[in-house]
Amino acid sequence: MNKNELFRKIPKVDVLMSEPRLQSAIERFGKEPVITVLRDALEELRKKLNENPSEEILENFVQTIQERVLHKVEDHKEANLKHVVNATGVILHTNLGRAPLPPIALEKLMEQMKGYMNLEYNLSEGKRGERYSHFEELLCRLTGAEAAMAVNNNAAAALLMVSAVGDGKEVIVSRGEQIEIGGKFRIPDIIDQSGCQRVEVGTTNKTRLEDYEDAITEETGAFLKVHTSNYKLVGFTQSVERDELCALAKKTGIPVIEDLGSGVLIDLSRYGLRKEPTVQESIAAGVDVVCFSGDKLLGGPQAGILVGKREWIAKCKKHPLTRAMRIDKCTAAMLETVLSMYEDEHYAVEHIPVLSRMTMPVEELKEKADSLAGKLVAALPKEVNVSIVKTETPIGGGSLPGELLKSYAVMLGKEGMNAEAFAASLREGELPIIARVSEDCILLDLRTMYEEEFDAVVATIKAKM
Ligand SMILES: *Cc1c(COP(=O)(O)O)cnc(C)c1O
Repeated sequence: MNKNELFRKIPKVDVLMSEPRLQSAIERFGKEPVITVLRDALEELRKKLNENPSEEILENFVQTIQERVLHKVEDHKEANLKHVVNATGVILHTNLGRAPLPPIALEKLMEQMKGYMNLEYNLSEGKRGERYSHFEELLCRLTGAEAAMAVNNNAAAALLMVSAVGDGKEVIVSRGEQIEIGGKFRIPDIIDQSGCQRVEVGTTNKTRLEDYEDAITEETGAFLKVHTSNYKLVGFTQSVERDELCALAKKTGIPVIEDLGSGVLIDLSRYGLRKEPTVQESIAAGVDVVCFSGDKLLGGPQAGILVGKREWIAKCKKHPLTRAMRIDKCTAAMLETVLSMYEDEHYAVEHIPVLSRMTMPVEELKEKADSLAGKLVAALPKEVNVSIVKTETPIGGGSLPGELLKSYAVMLGKEGMNAEAFAASLREGELPIIARVSEDCILLDLRTMYEEEFDAVVATIKAKM
């Protein structure tokens, strides 16, 4: 067959498009992505035939084209953001999306997001409402505050709080609380950004009440207290307790604002964890505005929540930054549902994944480790060593520094295995598994793994071993 004849036998795009498999691809992804991939494939074929006019190449093309186009379109359409297995044991893993959300809240979210909703609409009055109204009362009831609102994250909440309450005046802050959270969030930068004057008092390890008193001027706008949530100062240290600072604030009429970081609503010491200051305690002490994260120990969506006295929250709501930081409808809906779960503490601890994972008894983790190890032993070749080891992991997300949770992990090893390379291969593919490496073995920590994932995890590991 000569070249011209061969070229005439190349199937036309519209003929190929009517093939049943490609028709189903068009139904799933639309016409354009399929045409694009098909045209590219045909272009490549012409180039090949030009160099080597062989009938075999053409036949092979016709036989495999549907399959190849389908794969390419699927690959191209596959989301970059996907579910991963967190086998690190770190519950609040910022790089892995921090708090996994309660399934109950997600089911509700589907219903709420499909169509329209009363996000900023007052149904009883038939006019404009406020997007915070859906969870403000709930937050007030849970924390004892007079008013509440939320913005995109706690970094935004802190900036808004200092900007609105400080109002361009002097903000007094202890040198021991000039902290940096991951991702370049630094308290001194936040104060500078707010347009307020930063007045630092005390030293890194010691700050006394007199230091605050001595710094007060006509221009003082606020006292800022920061929960040093991601580090611990030990040894010769002193800081001014919230109660003392609130007493000084009351005497002088200067407001106290507090960045709590991971604000919790329940006393974690009741569950064998270290006590973290609760939002309720800040409010009860008389703090004017408290801000905290929605997706750290609270276990909800990414958000920065502000609660406090009515006049100051009203000022925050009216501040121009608020519009630039406002939460979307998904966050508002998710916040309402997650906060409502806190109305019953036991319900919250059981159904909010961050809390249930944090409080999961170590015996239960051991049972899960036994179950996963059993499945792995049954599926993997004999040369692979599968054992169960005790681990200790931080909670993560800059919460509860120094606190390690005891857990169990399944350890996988093989003679001559390059554990780092194997861990890297586990991160690729349809179900990425993020695992730690220790002593040339892979560690799968059960505290952050779901039982429903076990079979898929075993299949993935088996395929890669
Ligand atoms: C985590 C944290 C922040 C930042 O909160 P995001 O929700 O991550 O923006 C701010 N301040 C403190 C004290 C924190 O611990």
